[in-house]
Amino acid sequence: MDSISYERAADLNGAVRSAQQPGSMYIGGGTNLLDLMKGGVSRPVRLIDITRIGGLDTVATLPDGGLRIGALVRNSDAANHALIRERYPLLSQAFLAGASPQLRNMATVGGNLMQRTRCPYFYDTAFAQCNKRLPGSGCAAIGGLNRTHAIFGASPQCIAVNPSDMNVALAALDAVVRVSGPNGERAVPIGEFHRLPGDRPEIDTTLQMAELITAVDLPPPLFSEHAHYLKVRDRASYAFALVSVAAALQMDGNTVKHARIALGGVAHKPWRASTAEQMLTGHPLSDANLREAASAAVSDARPQRDNAFKVELAQRAIVRAVHQAAGRGGDFA
Ligand code: SF4
Repeated sequence: MDSISYERAADLNGAVRSAQQPGSMYIGGGTNLLDLMKGGVSRPVRLIDITRIGGLDTVATLPDGGLRIGALVRNSDAANHALIRERYPLLSQAFLAGASPQLRNMATVGGNLMQRTRCPYFYDTAFAQCNKRLPGSGCAAIGGLNRTHAIFGASPQCIAVNPSDMNVALAALDAVVRVSGPNGERAVPIGEFHRLPGDRPEIDTTLQMAELITAVDLPPPLFSEHAHYLKVRDRASYAFALVSVAAALQMDGNTVKHARIALGGVAHKPWRASTAEQMLTGHPLSDANLREAASAAVSDARPQRDNAFKVELAQRAIVRAVHQAAGRGGDFA
């Protein structure tokens, strides 16, 4: 049995100081970390409980009209917060699509950002090959069961996907992650927060040693009128996305002024469909140009043996999500 020390941080500086000791990990809601510890996948020697640090569990408006969501805000509280529901419905929908009500009541925004892949070979220590769990051991999913794995941005070392719904909405909204660490505070754009696997798949994010997420900042709301989060999964609830789409539009009549499209369940990080966004922006929203944009979004997909279906599924999900965002619930095939 492993010996673990536990301490409850009273403030941010104390937490960051403690976390600089080898083998330390922060714990908030613990909904992912405790699973990983029980399975022997994560083996911290010191847990630093951050849940009593003041000021990290609030939602506040920013001077520019944006919103700051504290890292300790629970997923259920964020989903149902009046300002998030009203100004960022895309994010509220994504929160409600994730996990179960019980898990959302415990899970924090910061923890959701840190959620690790659900690749079954990563969680099952009976498998000797997993570069993310045991660097240099190989990847059992390549040539194994890879129906749920990546179609974008994978590497010969890892083909896992990021499992979060919240992260996909944050990517579409151009959120910024605020962190505090031994060298002070910094702000990390969401697109630079999660990594592609490359040759270091064991590293999920660009966080530096002992850095702690303190908040997520949302820019002023541009997409409160036209947004939709669509999650396609094997069962209706409590399942991870095969493919998800966060679609947000600014419309001028039938013309798309701005489009944001991010995909989940397809890569090691939320995947922005930038080409599709550009193809839609400045043009009337028609079924034909939407299908063309969706096709362009998957043009560089590289599916595995078992998951070529995700290429077609992603296109159809984009078409459906954008139509729904535009308020055309029934206007698609
Ligand atoms: Fe491990 Fe990544 Fe391969 Fe899954 S896909 S077995 S997480 S290296």
